[in-house]
Amino acid sequence: MSQLGNSADVIVIGAGIHGCSTALHCALRGLSVILIEKDHAGRHASGVNAGGVRQLARHVAEIPLSNASMALWHDIENLVDDDCGFTSDGQVLVAEDEADLAQCRARVDDLNLRGFHHEEMIDAKELREIVPAVSETCPGGVISRRDGAAIPLRATQAFKRKAQSLGVDVREGVKVTKVEPDGAHWRVVTDAGNLVAPRIVNAAGAWADRIAADLGEPVPLEVIAPMLSITAALPAFIKPVVILRGRKLSFKQFGNGTVLIGGGYLGRAIRDENRTILDWHKLASNVRTVWELFPIMRGAPIVRSWAGIEARMPDDLPVFGRSARHEGVYHQFGFSAHGFQLGPGAGAVMAEIIATGRSNVPIDGLGIARFATQAGSAAHSAR
Ligand SMILES: Cc1cc2nc3c(=O)[nH]c(=O)nc-3n(C[C@H](O)[C@H](O)[C@H](O)COP(=O)(O)OP(=O)(O)OC[C@H]3O[C@@H](n4cnc5c(N)ncnc54)[C@H](O)[C@@H]3O)c2cc1C
Repeated sequence: MSQLGNSADVIVIGAGIHGCSTALHCALRGLSVILIEKDHAGRHASGVNAGGVRQLARHVAEIPLSNASMALWHDIENLVDDDCGFTSDGQVLVAEDEADLAQCRARVDDLNLRGFHHEEMIDAKELREIVPAVSETCPGGVISRRDGAAIPLRATQAFKRKAQSLGVDVREGVKVTKVEPDGAHWRVVTDAGNLVAPRIVNAAGAWADRIAADLGEPVPLEVIAPMLSITAALPAFIKPVVILRGRKLSFKQFGNGTVLIGGGYLGRAIRDENRTILDWHKLASNVRTVWELFPIMRGAPIVRSWAGIEARMPDDLPVFGRSARHEGVYHQFGFSAHGFQLGPGAGAVMAEIIATGRSNVPIDGLGIARFATQAGSAAHSAR
């Protein structure tokens, strides 16, 4: 393991999947990197999420980043020396009625016009071939065939380990308390001393608004706590990940038979205590939806429920790219409950921007400038 002292080419703040991936890709480009994490790599959203690796149903602004990431997921073992538990059995969006199906068709037509062809319509017959247990009333849906799922903590740790093997100095249990200019460089103040670098990446997840505010770029980040539940092992009945068009549900059966149920129901996050509080009423309604659609699930015991602490932006899109105010500052946060799939590709694109100043992957619409306010501008003068 490398120890770089108190300076490096790049300091990355936050060792979730995004910070670890960016650190790894910077190292692959020959940059020296210090990666700082207040807890341990994958302790938060990146280690406790549903593991969905999904291009399906993404906002068009993040599809190029998602495409870049999907290419890496399909070659993940070559990148991080671990398959991360990645399997690709597709993800299916189920339409529950004809109105749902019409909206699916409009979406797929729109994507095709924009040159994206990863989402395909399927009729009731194909839906039942792929998802035999689905309720007979569902008239069809959309499939993204290269989608799948991975094991979140294993994947995040694999990125960290590979980054370390390439010389990244990972400092866990170290908290960044302040970021400030230091001549032409940036001083990163931590509870274990000061560090300096010409370039810093804010990948601090649900805490990233504090770093951004320090830099005079306040953002309306909401701290949320998406919840998940897992059942006891059931006989194998489904391969792809399933999501609903109309209601909040995502649903995946693992190889060991257990079924992970999620879909965006929120508990309460207390970020300063690294703690979440579950909302059992909402979890019950989450499970009821599964029962209605998948009669086979009735009676399946739920063995555990949990939540993770995640950053959501008002437009549900990440903040990704250069600072709007400062040279050498980059933001990578606000993944709004769908950032796990984006991790490998976002790290590659961020490292490319840091090392070369540009990337061919379009990231228009994701910049922090969309949240610029006069209050923010007045609070800090640009360097
Ligand atoms: C329950 C749940 C289910 C989800 N399901 C999916 C899914 O199926 N598919 C999908 O694509 N996405 C999913 N997501 C979203 C996904 O997990 C996140 O978008 C993604 O992991 C965000 O990664 P990150 O690296 O930005 O943040 P994080 O993983 O939160 O990492 C940020 C890190 O920064 C550290 N940090 C913060 N402040 C400081 C500081 N001052 N000093 C040092 N370190 C600091 C934190 O401790 C943290 O470890 C889900 C999220 C949750 C919570």
